[in-house]
Amino acid sequence: MYDLIVIGGGLGGYGGAIRAAQKNKKVLLIEKNRIGGVCLNTGCIPTKALLQSANLYRELKEIDKFGLKVENISFDWSEISQYKNGVVEKLVKGVEFLLRKNKVDIEKGEAFFKDNNTVSVNGKELKGKNILVAVGSKPACPRSFENFKSERIIFSDEFFKFESIPSSMVIVGGGVIGIEIASVLNSFGTKVEIIEILDEILPGIDREIVKDLKRILKKRGLKIHTGTSVEDIREESNKLTVKAKEGNEEIKIETEYVLIATGRVANTCSLKLENTSVKTEGRGFITTDKYFKAAENIYAVGDVIGGKLLAHKALHEGISAAENMFEGAKLSIENHLIPAVIYTEPEIATIGFTEEEAREKFDNIKVGRFPLAANGKALIEGASAGFMKLIFSEDILIGATLLSTSAGEMISSLTYMIKQKAKYKDLREIVFPHPTISEAIGEAFMNAFKEAIHIIN
Ligand SMILES: Cc1cc2nc3c(=O)[nH]c(=O)nc-3n(C[C@H](O)[C@H](O)[C@H](O)COP(=O)(O)OP(=O)(O)OC[C@H]3O[C@@H](n4cnc5c(N)ncnc54)[C@H](O)[C@@H]3O)c2cc1C
Repeated sequence: MYDLIVIGGGLGGYGGAIRAAQKNKKVLLIEKNRIGGVCLNTGCIPTKALLQSANLYRELKEIDKFGLKVENISFDWSEISQYKNGVVEKLVKGVEFLLRKNKVDIEKGEAFFKDNNTVSVNGKELKGKNILVAVGSKPACPRSFENFKSERIIFSDEFFKFESIPSSMVIVGGGVIGIEIASVLNSFGTKVEIIEILDEILPGIDREIVKDLKRILKKRGLKIHTGTSVEDIREESNKLTVKAKEGNEEIKIETEYVLIATGRVANTCSLKLENTSVKTEGRGFITTDKYFKAAENIYAVGDVIGGKLLAHKALHEGISAAENMFEGAKLSIENHLIPAVIYTEPEIATIGFTEEEAREKFDNIKVGRFPLAANGKALIEGASAGFMKLIFSEDILIGATLLSTSAGEMISSLTYMIKQKAKYKDLREIVFPHPTISEAIGEAFMNAFKEAIHIIN
């Protein structure tokens, strides 16, 4: 009998497995596909590797603004893919090594439940005192799309297998995945159009920041249709024609591929949860208490429990669940303290409450902004697009959204400040090194209280 059987080898699963093994527990991890899950194999890592090449390529084309001359800039998609695959392989092998060194048993195969303590895999029945479900999520396909049959209608997983860069792509869904893939393609010259049914792209992100990012993306040639729904997709001689309704107007777009990025559903269909007392809701997401317990002896973490579908949330929950089940700890995560980063250029990084949420929940809201156009380091780097936006309730910092180069690298310090309920009187005493982009955060603190030095408040 195992102390813990983990189903799913993504960040949630392997994080929980390693933490339990560190506590000298006998652990088995079952994975039907590749260790590392979506994040390492078909999610965070491959997109960010492609974005690295894409951003460098775009920057190289503008390099003369730094007084440098580079001629005949070009790219080779198959070499870019090799570089991306190389990064993925290194990370997957690294996690496999860590699991082995921590003496976690690994079984390759698809698992399903027999009861609350028993899992079946490869024809074997295995018993665990505890079971951690970390099976993640998969792309959702809108029901109306089930009628559209074409190999040119794809999901993000297939995009990573492309052998050449497409000349045109319609992306249905203006969420994070759609926008990041659009940014890659746009940098390499693909004609990209995004169709978003809602009035604005990137739901849940500060509206003012999204508006500014949209302006930057449109300037680079990305077409974004909001308030638009796809009515029909037809394939004819290796081309798709997408018919959509933009407000009251019919639009028609010819494209090589359509990528569907309209959200994700839980990966629970084959788990036979009906043999357990686990409950699901909505798109199949497992319900748990705040300590990730789903039923007697069963915990669930990561994408499969819904909320923010983010890798660091999955990892943090996996570790917390292992501590809760074996140490009687009471670890949980407050939703607003999970940062999110969107890897456009400039990046968006966000933590705490947006201005819209803050105005609904709190009194006496103060907003501090500081444009990167007034920051020395941003000008030096040719990265002066974007701004910092900070939200205070009374004098306590409760939210931050950064539209800035390296925003993702700066958000953790703000996460700590918000978690500690930092007050303006303490924040204004932080000395920011000069010249750095992070100085713009210090100025935005001060702007909220009309004390910024490098802009007129
Ligand atoms: C294109 C894309 C880009 C992304 N970029 C980012 C990003 O930059 N940052 C970020 O934080 N998040 C990002 N995400 C989200 C991130 O990948 C997920 O939040 C994260 O992978 C969730 O981890 P998990 O452990 O919950 O599940 P997963 O990573 O989905 O792992 C679940 C694993 O369980 C396995 N499995 C499923 N069913 C069974 C079964 N019955 N038996 C055995 N094994 C099973 C699956 O094969 C899979 O390997 C991105 C996602 C996508 C699609």
